[in-house]
Amino acid sequence: MSFTSLGLSAPILKAISEKGYSEPSPIQAQAIPAVLSGKDVMAAAQTGTGKTAGFTLPILEKLSQGDQVKPGHARTLILTPTRELAAQIAENVETYSKHLSLNSTVVFGGVKINPQIGRLRQGVDILVATPGRLLDLYNQKAVSFKQLEILVLDEADRMLDMGFLRDIKKILSLLPRQRQNLLFSATFSDDIRMLAKGLVNSPVEISVSPRNTTAETVEQLVYSVDKKRKPGLLTKLIKENDWKQVLVFMKTKHGANKLTKQLDAEGISAAAIHGNKSQGARTKALAHFKDGSVSVLVATDIAARGIDIEQLPQVVNFELPNVPEDYVHRIGRTGRAGATGKAVSLVAADEIELLDDVQNLIQQHLPREIVEGFVPQNPLPESRKLRAIRPKKPRNFKSEKFEHKDGQRSADNSRGHKPKSKNPRHQNGGSNGNNAKTGGRKPNPNRGKSQSSDPYAASR
Ligand code: AMP
Repeated sequence: MSFTSLGLSAPILKAISEKGYSEPSPIQAQAIPAVLSGKDVMAAAQTGTGKTAGFTLPILEKLSQGDQVKPGHARTLILTPTRELAAQIAENVETYSKHLSLNSTVVFGGVKINPQIGRLRQGVDILVATPGRLLDLYNQKAVSFKQLEILVLDEADRMLDMGFLRDIKKILSLLPRQRQNLLFSATFSDDIRMLAKGLVNSPVEISVSPRNTTAETVEQLVYSVDKKRKPGLLTKLIKENDWKQVLVFMKTKHGANKLTKQLDAEGISAAAIHGNKSQGARTKALAHFKDGSVSVLVATDIAARGIDIEQLPQVVNFELPNVPEDYVHRIGRTGRAGATGKAVSLVAADEIELLDDVQNLIQQHLPREIVEGFVPQNPLPESRKLRAIRPKKPRNFKSEKFEHKDGQRSADNSRGHKPKSKNPRHQNGGSNGNNAKTGGRKPNPNRGKSQSSDPYAASR
């Protein structure tokens, strides 16, 4: 199949060909006609499938045919959980719209608000935003949604994980009823389906790879190693394999900083990216990683969301994530859009339960190796047998609808109005939401442990 058969006009096709894409990825082949038809779309697509172009290209097509945007208005809103993902999508929008006379902008927290207000005043065809900052801007009357035609919720699962449900609901209440809704999520939990119920109408359902399965083009391997020896093993692997671009995942910001220093001391150029870093520092670290001047980027899960480096060859799980779905997201950073990649996990004996959770989620046992000189004193126990994935009883959505699971502030309390509740979840204060896996939040023990029946089975 070619892009020309999908109903996109010449300026968009030109931008696609300049970007070097020869044919649409499976999600693009399904999503582009669906979005162009004007229907709502609900897509189960993990990162790396080309989903961004899957919604951006048809949106550009539609916008190029409609009315001009009025000052202070936005015609399309793309909501994303993290700043990095927002910036990444905005970059894609710019690339694909370069031969069109449409304008776009991106807004997120952590940077000055005034330039964002200035850009919104002119009116934007596409606004990419994180929820908290968007609400701040709305409350300051910097943007009106009266002309809004299309809403995209990207990585909806992560938005709920980060405690954005309340902000999302508020944003939805500000939008015109008549609009097209596109919902993208890597995983479809009960919560996401409840959210979808109130959002999409008779949607076209799209699924390009089974839920919670890892990209087939990614080679996965577990190194059994003692905890203390992980930095040494990583150094050896990087040096001996001559890895030039490695994304390393850590659970904590402190751990990320420490490992970065250890690698630097070994003569390996490394930078950390996490929620405690300023936006400037994060952008700089990512730019250096992309241009090759830094070969190792050490990231926490949330900060890594949205990082898109074409054909990232190597991902390392220095620690396994508490939430097994994060493993799928992490390794989705490599093997993108058909390229092959490698994902290795350094696993100590006390991480066996996390490994079991991951293996159960992806329904496969990962091959193991031990590196000479790094034979663990505490060997990794045998893996558990894989359990069958059973449907889960839906949880009571109402009772948790205003919860912020990780101390995430909503726009309501982001200016100092702390929640009155003595709920210990709220006592960590206002994190910026980029450290959900690293702060005091306890992961939901049910996440990923049991899965509901596949809502997309029929459409596959
Ligand atoms: P995404 O899933 O949107 O994060 O995209 C993953 C990667 O695939 C990005 O690096 C895109 O530039 C790339 N990509 C998207 N569409 C195509 C395509 N049709 N052909 C080749 N690469 C693509």
